Amino acid sequence: MESATKFRLVVFSAKQYDRFFFDIAASESHKTLYDIEYLDFALNSETAPLARGYDAVCVFVNDTLEKDTLKILHTNGVRAILLRCAGFNHVDLVAAGELGLFVAHVPAYSPEAVAEFAIALVQTLNRKTHRAFNRVRESNFNIEGLIGTTLNGKTVGIVGVGRIGLATARIFNGFGCKMLAYDVNENPDFAQYGSFVGLEQLLAESDIVSLHCPLTDSTRHLISTKTLSIMKPGALLVNTSRGGLIDSTAVLESLKSHHLGGLALDVYEAERGLFYTDHSGKIIDDDVLMRLLTFPNVLICSHQGFFTKEALTEIANVTFANLSDFIERRPCPRSLVAGGHIDSSIGVQPVRL
Ligand code: NAD
Repeated sequence: MESATKFRLVVFSAKQYDRFFFDIAASESHKTLYDIEYLDFALNSETAPLARGYDAVCVFVNDTLEKDTLKILHTNGVRAILLRCAGFNHVDLVAAGELGLFVAHVPAYSPEAVAEFAIALVQTLNRKTHRAFNRVRESNFNIEGLIGTTLNGKTVGIVGVGRIGLATARIFNGFGCKMLAYDVNENPDFAQYGSFVGLEQLLAESDIVSLHCPLTDSTRHLISTKTLSIMKPGALLVNTSRGGLIDSTAVLESLKSHHLGGLALDVYEAERGLFYTDHSGKIIDDDVLMRLLTFPNVLICSHQGFFTKEALTEIANVTFANLSDFIERRPCPRSLVAGGHIDSSIGVQPVRL
């Protein structure tokens, strides 16, 4: 009887670590309020009917919430969508608003976690510690080919100075780098580290370009054949934001022509269906990704910038706080869509999938 009155939540794309941190957060705050089901596969139009009977779904970055999927969820009784991530480019917020769904995200669970990971990628690629590690394990103590550059005094361009971009700028500033930034909204907090310039100037002058703007219609393929040609020869490009910011084929060509000096990716435009799952022993039919992986000056990780204990704890706690706001009909400061309206502070029209 008791379970019939509980609020029912189904968590898609759930890994062991999601269960671990969600169970702790649920037991600490609202143990008796929720029935939680974990599904290890992604939410899309095919799996959406499995949400039947649940009041809310919780999803991650590679679940697909386009209009069809949202309609199926709505028809099956789902009223709340909880994103356990900051980015919301994978959700058709317009359709969610039309259906009267509640959508909330976790905007700032740990900007430093992602910023620190961006730096880790840059320094791994730059100083080649990943290759050194493998060599030394094979008793190869030769350092030929492992030469890097000193970050101190280099120019770093940050594209998108929000929470993560600012945290990244703070760390690069600590290395003694000259900081440039480009943003459609110029965050005054960046002034202590460097100056805002136009995108072209940033690309032309930066030794390292780090992407931290969201994926929208206007930022898709921000890095293209054209913008790559503006970049300083030998520059290093790092993307911990969203894969769609980079035209992967264009970047491949730029690397092949020795114009781009290095590429560090935590995100990839065709990562859905690949990242977060073990494909070893299988044939991967993404020729661009597989070609990129052959380059010694390319480093690719599978979207793990967020992956720290602190961030996972915060994600779980804030997700339950969002859910609690929804249930209690309180205004939710992290809602993207509520009462049929898209939060106007988002500032950009979210991309339609
Ligand atoms: P944020 O909203 O705080 O900052 C985004 C910044 O980008 C804002 O200052 C905004 O004005 C700017 N921006 C928007 N449109 C722009 C444009 N056309 N050109 C330049 N700048 C533009 O977001 P955040 O919390 O800093 O997160 C940044 C991105 O990082 C998210 O969108 C998300 O996609 C990604 N992210 C990745 C991971 C990971 O694990 N790799 C984790 C969290 C977030």
